[in-house]
Amino acid sequence: MAIKAVKGTRDILAPEIRNWTEYEDMARKLFRRYGFEEIRTPIFEYTEVFSRGIGEDTDIVHKEMYTFSDRKGRSITLRPENTASVVRSYIEHRMDLQAKVTRLFYIGPMFRYERPQKGRYRQFYQTGAEVFGSSHPFVDADTIEMVVRLLRDLGLSGLRVDINSVGCRECRPGYREALQDYLSGHRDSLCEDCRRRMESNPLRVLDCKVPGCRAVVEDAPSIQDHLCDGCREHQEQVFRFLDLLGVDYRPEPGLVRGLDYYTRTVFEVISEGLGAQNAILGGGRYDNLVKELGGPDVPAFGWALGMDRLMMVLGDRKLYEESPSFYVLPVGKDLEYAVQTALALKDNGYRAVVLAEAASLKSGLKQVNRAGGRFVLLAGESEKEKNVLILRDMENSSQREIPAADLLKEIENEIKK
Ligand code: AMP
Repeated sequence: MAIKAVKGTRDILAPEIRNWTEYEDMARKLFRRYGFEEIRTPIFEYTEVFSRGIGEDTDIVHKEMYTFSDRKGRSITLRPENTASVVRSYIEHRMDLQAKVTRLFYIGPMFRYERPQKGRYRQFYQTGAEVFGSSHPFVDADTIEMVVRLLRDLGLSGLRVDINSVGCRECRPGYREALQDYLSGHRDSLCEDCRRRMESNPLRVLDCKVPGCRAVVEDAPSIQDHLCDGCREHQEQVFRFLDLLGVDYRPEPGLVRGLDYYTRTVFEVISEGLGAQNAILGGGRYDNLVKELGGPDVPAFGWALGMDRLMMVLGDRKLYEESPSFYVLPVGKDLEYAVQTALALKDNGYRAVVLAEAASLKSGLKQVNRAGGRFVLLAGESEKEKNVLILRDMENSSQREIPAADLLKEIENEIKK
């Protein structure tokens, strides 16, 4: 039996891949405009980076990591997300000594052992941005505006920015307690996971999708009533800067995020057309994580965008311009003339493929048809003798002879037609 790709993984093929690479180019250019530099961390890390970074009681660490021992028995994990790795790198390279504020972005694959479904894979791709060294609310707003602009540049609409605060070390414990009190009165209506979460991480119950839990959560106390003055002021400032930057957002008091490290601002961008897995990106502030992972006391803000879902939202929309391919057919055994013709095209920025293996004109044209190609240049011996080429448009099967010297001018005209 032929071997297939591992469950939950897939090959990204043409033409879809062209949207991916075009998107990546656009993102890189845009992020640089905002002062960000790219970072590429390894795809695997010591397991500790994630268990300490993401939090032991998250679904990710609890049940979704690809963890294995290497040949020396060290525990290694394929990255399930990249913030913890970037923080590890930030600390390791003492980036805090190089600049007051460090802005980084990444693009790459992540791995989670989740149940595959539409828009959910075991190898999926994220674009992310992280800002270290500033607790200023403008950083939150600026970094959100950057990704909203990216989505807008991609031509997306029907997007919603949901935003909330999850408080800080000062005020969250009080809220946690109030929530726990409330939840324990409704213990019997909660799912099994939430009964566990209720003890270890009650905020996560707010995130549960099980209908019974959602009903309980509806009347739960709101974090908004428990924020300390500092967190409230921070939130107001973030809103003010978002207004200033022209970003539409919706305060969403029930929003918490699946990872433990967030403080203050959390946000998500929702695509209304996506169904159950409708969050394209999410993120927030994480002022304690760098320190918790053994680094200096440096505040941070970041987000991660799911590229697979983004591509789904884009659907058939093309981010790239379709440029024509020229198939050069030698018609005969002597390839020299065809090769020279193709070289001239490539030298001038055109896509050109020599059909070296076409045994006859007929089989050559068949190949072009199958590939969906439009333009063919016949470059056989008789054409070579006359210093001409035959340019054929497969769309209407018309063809005409052109002087070889006018090749570039002629195809330019042909493309414009
Ligand atoms: P998270 O790191 O869980 O906050 O996820 C950030 C974004 O990554 C989500 O909003 C999704 O768009 C995307 N994402 C997370 N998990 C998956 C997955 N298993 N498959 C595809 N996309 C995912």
